[in-house]
Amino acid sequence: MQTSRSWAEPYKIKMVEPLFITTREERETYIKEAGYNTFLLRSRQVYIDLLTDSGTSAMSDRQWAAMMMGDEAYAGSENFYHLEEAIHKYYGYKYLVPTHQGRGAEHILSKIMIKDGDFVPGNMYFTTTRLHQELAGGTFVDIIIKEAHDPESTHLFKGDCDLQRLEDLIKEKGADKIPYVSIATTVNMAGGQPISMANLKALRALTAKYGIPIVHDMTRVAENAYMIQQNEKGYQDKAVKQIVREICDLTDAATMSAKKDALVNIGGFLAVNDEEIFNQARNMVVIYEGLHTYGGLAGRDMEAMAIGISESVSDDHIRARVGQVLYLGKKLLNAGVPIVKPIGTHGVFIDAKKFLPHLTQEQFPAQSLAAEIYEDSGVRAMERGIVSAGRDKITGENNHPELELVRLTIPRRVYTQAHMDVVAESVQSVYNERDKVKGLKMIYEPEYLRFFQARFEKLG
Ligand SMILES: *Cc1c(COP(=O)(O)O)cnc(C)c1O
Repeated sequence: MQTSRSWAEPYKIKMVEPLFITTREERETYIKEAGYNTFLLRSRQVYIDLLTDSGTSAMSDRQWAAMMMGDEAYAGSENFYHLEEAIHKYYGYKYLVPTHQGRGAEHILSKIMIKDGDFVPGNMYFTTTRLHQELAGGTFVDIIIKEAHDPESTHLFKGDCDLQRLEDLIKEKGADKIPYVSIATTVNMAGGQPISMANLKALRALTAKYGIPIVHDMTRVAENAYMIQQNEKGYQDKAVKQIVREICDLTDAATMSAKKDALVNIGGFLAVNDEEIFNQARNMVVIYEGLHTYGGLAGRDMEAMAIGISESVSDDHIRARVGQVLYLGKKLLNAGVPIVKPIGTHGVFIDAKKFLPHLTQEQFPAQSLAAEIYEDSGVRAMERGIVSAGRDKITGENNHPELELVRLTIPRRVYTQAHMDVVAESVQSVYNERDKVKGLKMIYEPEYLRFFQARFEKLG
């Protein structure tokens, strides 16, 4: 991309979906009724929906056409074999078990690989990933570099692992207590930050020394590959496709939420190289998801996923996808809004601690800010802070994450740059009135993944 010239989306619009415009008064009622939790709003109450990039992508005409090629046989659907081919070709893993989405794969893999009392190191936790590790009896250990916890650090690869910390952990607990190292590309909770190829290679060498496998949470692998191409020495002339394959080749198994990078509205998979683990997973998927050739998906979903995977690794696609996120991020930076730096690949993360310094973390600054942005413009964001971090498994106390963020997540191929302008102006207008934003009190807290369903009230 030439930075001196304007650029545009590498597609044109063939079908439109009207948006719903509401008044501020209506929005104040809606968000109150939703318990100040943007997850509890109805989508018709939302103007620009930046809640998540999960399952919200626009499919291409080729993907829609592929939906008509669904082979809805219970067993041995042709679409399963197409998906298997796509995974062999672009990712290189040997065996495929489809699942209804990413957490289905996490569930099965955690149950197979983790024993009671095990430790699972990873480059920062992800909500569902850690929960499945814990439900299987494991304890997650964060081994991401310390820069990842600092929204001001401009480290280009904040997804990197602190290898010294990992080796200390292996020596302290013993390699037999570590079933695998869990690596995400890119790191969602750190703000969509990539891991470098150099770090991944060093991690591979270290884990090989102790016989520990690497499990790859490859939800945003193409976005990570793009950041390597842009910022890591030696990768400028490699296609994103090649870099994706190189990342996958350094790992032993993968869980995928195809609702992100792979441009489908539903779907996921578990992919492994070990035949024994595959056999167990193929057996277990029958209990929780469905037969091993559909895993909770319709044939048409698998076909759309196979095509989505091929589109997701195209340089033109990924440059525009990440480019749109950068476009919004730069607008906010220029307006002086505190955001996580560098700008991540799937969203812009507002630093709510800095935005609302008059609120304590117990007053849920990120939750409050997301509600406030909604009231201002109907733009829906989400909290990634103390609510998402949940409670300590043992003490039951609130976890206090260093990062208290509001995430503006950009769906793929859905909105235009003009929508991004509207979002930037809304955040800026809330920023100008930031000292008026009040905190919240939690009045309902569900037991698991509380951020999805918790309810709040505005403080006086
Ligand atoms: C979304 C996501 C998951 C879980 O996938 P689902 O399809 O939502 O079940 C796992 N890891 C990361 C990094 C994710 O972003």
